[in-house]
Amino acid sequence: MATIAFIGLGNMGGPMAANLVKAGHTVKGFDLSADILKSVAASGVTPASSIEEATSSADTVVTMLPKGAHVLSVWSNLASAVKSGTLLIDCSTIDVESARKAHELAADANCLSLDAPVSGGTGGAAAGTLTFMAGGSDGAFDRAKPVLEAMGKKIVHCGGNGAGQAAKICNNMILGVSMIGVCEAFALGEKLGLSHQALFDVASTSSGQCWSINTYCPVPGPVPTSPANNDYKPGFAAALMLKDLKLAQEAALAAGAATPLGAEAAQLFDLFDKQGHGGRDFSAIIEMLRG
Ligand code: NAD
Repeated sequence: MATIAFIGLGNMGGPMAANLVKAGHTVKGFDLSADILKSVAASGVTPASSIEEATSSADTVVTMLPKGAHVLSVWSNLASAVKSGTLLIDCSTIDVESARKAHELAADANCLSLDAPVSGGTGGAAAGTLTFMAGGSDGAFDRAKPVLEAMGKKIVHCGGNGAGQAAKICNNMILGVSMIGVCEAFALGEKLGLSHQALFDVASTSSGQCWSINTYCPVPGPVPTSPANNDYKPGFAAALMLKDLKLAQEAALAAGAATPLGAEAAQLFDLFDKQGHGGRDFSAIIEMLRG
């Protein structure tokens, strides 16, 4: 069993750290929020008062932080705090360039490192059913796998440094674009007098089928578990979708890739967010698309 320092114990990190404890690992946690630190103690995570205290005896460090700047700031501190040979895993969703810089910081400190963003949201974090998309060396992946398995059900090694973040933003760009397409189809169907159930019954079993309609249908009724049946409570908040679409656009610009639909999706979610809907589920964008 590993001795793990977990930095960033928010909506995702808190339940992920709790699952590491359940799997038998020893976990010391640190977060800037004193309230969060207090609350994680109930799940068996030992609260630490600093990054140094959390990492002093750790053989593995997991970070789950908001953005690239937070990860680089924490990993710069880690480099001087941890022992040589420590495994550093970042599970945050961040830009590919920052992820690659974080790997360089780890290499300078003689540490193994992995970028391992997740999909599955807070429900998956609590249930231990996240999907991890990992980037880094074979050695780092092999050592991280048992740790990640305590928090997720599918672990994919996507390639070298930054490949996990690349896979994450490509997947979420597909999701943002496909959700807008599904919402437009339902809005058009409504104007043409088509019932939601009829469109669902056809499209979910025909060539229009995709996760956005079959599992997460943006209108109430056809898929009872989708957020549309719960006043569009997230689920996956529109602000997080916007964050991922912006990361995809930054990466597309840097790589010289043409992503016109990804760019349009980013603009539409930006408008939706500016209208004050960032905290709602991203499928609520159907309301804006109805006009
Ligand atoms: P969150 O804001 O709830 O948690 C982030 C935590 O990091 C906060 O508790 C904050 O206090 C802490 N933090 C910030 N800077 C710190 C520092 N220097 N040292 C220690 N702690 C620090 O965010 P979240 O929803 O848990 O998301 C975390 C990451 O996971 C993000 O990158 C997000 O994009 C990604 N993600 C979130 C979801 C989701 O559904 N919430 C799904 C997939 C991926």
